[in-house]
Amino acid sequence: MSDSTSVLPTHPDEPHQGGLAGRLNWLRAGVLGANDGIVSTASIVVGVAGASASVPAIATAGVAALVGGAVSMALGEYVSVSSQRDSQRSLIDQERRELAEDPDAELEELTQLWQAKGLERVTAERVAAELTAEDALAAHLSTELGIDETEVVSPWNAAFASAAAFSIGALLPLLAILLPPAGVRVPVTFVVVLVALALTGATGARIGGGSVPRATVRVVVGGALALAATFAIGSVLGTSGLV
Ligand SMILES: [Zn+2]
Repeated sequence: MSDSTSVLPTHPDEPHQGGLAGRLNWLRAGVLGANDGIVSTASIVVGVAGASASVPAIATAGVAALVGGAVSMALGEYVSVSSQRDSQRSLIDQERRELAEDPDAELEELTQLWQAKGLERVTAERVAAELTAEDALAAHLSTELGIDETEVVSPWNAAFASAAAFSIGALLPLLAILLPPAGVRVPVTFVVVLVALALTGATGARIGGGSVPRATVRVVVGGALALAATFAIGSVLGTSGLV
């Protein structure tokens, strides 16, 4: 044994791969949630403003859009993360049972998995034996299933985070339409919303590693179309006397 390993740099600030991917996923989900809050609430308040100049009507619609959207995001996230967690838990339970019932077959399975990754039989046997001695369950979960028992996401956290992200996004158009004087309400909201969408679009692309200009144009054009459509519909309904 040489002592060369002791002088190798340890890269203390290099993030653990799984942790970094997890944080980026959260950030990405937050940006998408904020984006949803901006577009859906802006479309609703601009639509109502097209039909009516009543501030209470616009405020009521905007607050309802914020609350309804946040609850719907939280529910959707809760359901999807819960079912993902259930399936991870049942995989973990199954693996634990197999290890208790037939440890020899499990050791052989782990050895073959390491052989399949490119190790020689002798090396694979040694790796499998050492990992099994250290923490057999963790070794099977990561080698076989690619999951980490300690990284199972809480559905409550996910639900709360997406509701919060949506609400922050929804507040922007709500304030933008309520604070300015009546005459400039709608144009101010358009500008605020499109600038905010450009920011979330660019941030989302930067996190996801995509093209920043393309993503920005896509989200801004999509948002502008949504606002123009609901404003036009609101104006038609308002002037036709239907509402
Ligand atoms: Zn196994």
